[in-house]
Amino acid sequence: LLEINNLKKSFDDLEVIKNISLNVEQGKVVAIIGPSGSGKSTLLRCATMLERIDSGEIFYNGECAVSTGDNGIVKYASNKELRNIYSYYGLVFQNFNLFPHFSVMKNVTDALIHVQKKSKKEAYKIGRELLVKMGLSDKEDAYPCQLSGGQQQRVSIARALALNPKVLFFDEPTSALDPELTGEVLKVIKDLAREHMTMVIVTHEMSFAKEVANHVIFMDGGVIVEQDSPEEVFGNTKNERTKAFIKRVN
Ligand code: ATP
Ligand code: MG
Repeated sequence: LLEINNLKKSFDDLEVIKNISLNVEQGKVVAIIGPSGSGKSTLLRCATMLERIDSGEIFYNGECAVSTGDNGIVKYASNKELRNIYSYYGLVFQNFNLFPHFSVMKNVTDALIHVQKKSKKEAYKIGRELLVKMGLSDKEDAYPCQLSGGQQQRVSIARALALNPKVLFFDEPTSALDPELTGEVLKVIKDLAREHMTMVIVTHEMSFAKEVANHVIFMDGGVIVEQDSPEEVFGNTKNERTKAFIKRVN
């Protein structure tokens, strides 16, 4: 579903992504762990075209979003092709990124109405179903500032799901939340995993990664240092840097 080959990205002289390849299959949950500054967010930003890459290839559903020629020239797909590719994925950020002046329902349905050109009635029906699923059916008229962080994050998950993506990316979805609100967001993500939603999740929650992921990637210094099933990465850690990291965060 998502294939990344030989991705490289620098900021000025700083090589942030050194040469990363990864493959995410339909229905799988991939957790990315690693120390601060290891390039996790940059990898997600490159994978979702929020950041230009220096070289490498990215495919969604077999469609080439960006490639690099033998001459080293990076070539992005046409705008029309990219629009189609953008519809394959959704993003959930650490800080929710909701529109503060929009109600919950409007946040969830805005893109349905203005990008997908659905009728308001149809969009609200989808919005309502998603808010029920997120346990927020009584909040559709509330504004983001009236919600807890955990509720806001569930709204942003509903918003990402509204466009019916094939893969959802999460960048530390719970790290801005108080510990008592973390659980409700992790539960929603676990429910999605149970429904076989394809997800790529950057997280500092090791027990969550262990429980929900099919595949765990440990990144450090812009490279994938170790990757395997959660049982292997956490239970039979091979790399010394991975061992030190897991020990430190546990
Ligand atoms: P954290 O766990 O703290 O979120 P991370 O693994 O997500 O860390 P990145 O945010 O990807 O790390 O950053 C990797 C490196 O790239 C850091 O050294 C960071 O300072 C640098 N970096 C990230 N974005 C930019 C930018 N826009 N301009 C310059 N340097 C950047
Ligand atoms: Mg980050």
